[in-house]
Amino acid sequence: MRKKSRFFYFLVSICLIVLCFFLFSSLIFSGEVPGTEPATSPAEVKEIEKSIEAGLETENEERESREEQEQKSPGSSAVTESNEVPAPDLPSRGHEVKQAWDNALLEKISFLQNPLPGALVSSRDSQLPGAPRPYRNGVHEGLDFYSGACGIDVNFGDPVFAAGPGVVYRIDHDYQEPSTGEREELLRICAENGDTPEDILDKLRGRQVWLVHSHDIITRYAHLSEVAEHLQEGDLVEPGDFIGAVGNSGTSEGAEGSTANHHLHFEIWIGDSYLGEGLSPQEIRELWTLVLEK
Ligand SMILES: [Zn+2]
Repeated sequence: MRKKSRFFYFLVSICLIVLCFFLFSSLIFSGEVPGTEPATSPAEVKEIEKSIEAGLETENEERESREEQEQKSPGSSAVTESNEVPAPDLPSRGHEVKQAWDNALLEKISFLQNPLPGALVSSRDSQLPGAPRPYRNGVHEGLDFYSGACGIDVNFGDPVFAAGPGVVYRIDHDYQEPSTGEREELLRICAENGDTPEDILDKLRGRQVWLVHSHDIITRYAHLSEVAEHLQEGDLVEPGDFIGAVGNSGTSEGAEGSTANHHLHFEIWIGDSYLGEGLSPQEIRELWTLVLEK
């Protein structure tokens, strides 16, 4: 009886050991360890696979677009990688121009600065030199600074400063605003002539200051609401000196007595050409930006 009992316990022990072994090995192979959560559920594994696939797709697309760009401009990536400075795009002109834009010209006018500090060259072609002016059958010869198109607020009465060292050639202390009727008569003559006669253009620029600088350069400031009282023709001015204030003289709104349409009209003349004459709007914008936004 004792032997049978021993054998029975022995058998039970063996069974328990075998059972424990199977249980333990099944846990190991299924990756489940008691007391820990599975690292990733099957749903999460699917999500990860999807995002890896998406990532690979994006990478492929990016590589394809890079390859496309390289085919369009071979060697461009090599230039970027080696930090070489690419040759500048020279302005191309399909027509004869009066005034060449070259480094000599830029050097000549490099002393000039912005008459409205902080203002940018207008974003609108119609406010650039060379823009057509159908209302008087003519061409715009200067750059307009208007609120909303030059990066800063331009208010009626804002100070205007000398763009460079020079001599006051003209300052309109005794300006008389033409009436609306007088102005209409001026425009009628323009329509009849098919252009803008110089004396009429001068009246349409309103109250003005002209400065003469070195190298045969003249700057003109037009549509002013007032001019610096202390300045007279022949006076020397330094860059940044106050010379007048923003207004709308010479415009139809000025003739009506309102302050609407106020802006600074600024011209740069080199000899008998205005800066940008004969160039495309894009070239004019680039050239004026080099001069005023430095
Ligand atoms: Zn203008």
